[in-house]
Amino acid sequence: MDGETAQTKELSKNSKIEKKPFYHIEKPMSESRVEPFLEAFAAVLKYSDYRPLLDSYCTSSAKCNRCAVTCPVFLATGDPRDIPCYRTNLLLNVYKRYFTIGGWLNGRLTNGFELTEEIIDDMLEVFYRCTACRRCTRECPMGVDHGLITRLGRYILSLTQEPFLILVMISLFLTFTGMWMNSIAQVIIFTPIFLPVIKAVGIDPIHFAIIFVVNAEVGFLTPPLGTNLFVSMEIAETNLGGVTRAVLSLLGVLLLMVLVIIVFPEISLWLPRVLTG
Ligand code: SF4
Ligand code: SF4
Repeated sequence: MDGETAQTKELSKNSKIEKKPFYHIEKPMSESRVEPFLEAFAAVLKYSDYRPLLDSYCTSSAKCNRCAVTCPVFLATGDPRDIPCYRTNLLLNVYKRYFTIGGWLNGRLTNGFELTEEIIDDMLEVFYRCTACRRCTRECPMGVDHGLITRLGRYILSLTQEPFLILVMISLFLTFTGMWMNSIAQVIIFTPIFLPVIKAVGIDPIHFAIIFVVNAEVGFLTPPLGTNLFVSMEIAETNLGGVTRAVLSLLGVLLLMVLVIIVFPEISLWLPRVLTG
């Protein structure tokens, strides 16, 4: 009996160790980060002017290694992966393979370069080791701006990895702009900018729309410029300081509500899903 009890205790101890911590993710984690990475890259290319720059960098490497001897990171680590053109080529290889006609042909005719999880891990490590000081750019006879490529790489990686952080940052931005812009103007101006990013990181557009509208309304109440504060001043016959003090606690509750909507997408998506089957 004693032996059995000890065994049971041991089993329950092990089951506690194996118990997975609770966490929330925006949607089931995909097996691979390759597709989200390419979608984010495609969205950046569609809504920015990077394409001609990347085209010119793809054809301009002289392989002179001058960038290596000026890079403080490479001089400190001695790791070949810290050579500026190695890091830049990680992103340029993806661009050439997936976003140019030459890469498209190459992919069909040969077993050429393919983006893999290992390459994305490599990018995550080396793009965040570069300080973006741009010393290498001053030495490069072809004018390749490795600092710029580093920032672009980090941006695409952040789109691939951080949907929650992206929603929080967009929310703060919309609350800030909502202080002096009306909701319709915000929707017209910011939707075309944010929607491709939102889709690229796998956030449901309906969920985003709800967050957008709620934030725009919170902006109306946010001191010191929220439009509704001035309306309240007139109605309550008080000054801006009085209205601001009265509204601060309500604003805290509203911001908490925005956070809850961000963290639990089901609040926004349950009804649309029921209605659309
Ligand atoms: S920008 Fe990056 S790669 Fe270029 S010198 Fe500075 S740390 Fe090195
Ligand atoms: S200095 Fe410029 S041209 Fe020379 S290897 Fe570096 S990136 Fe290429």
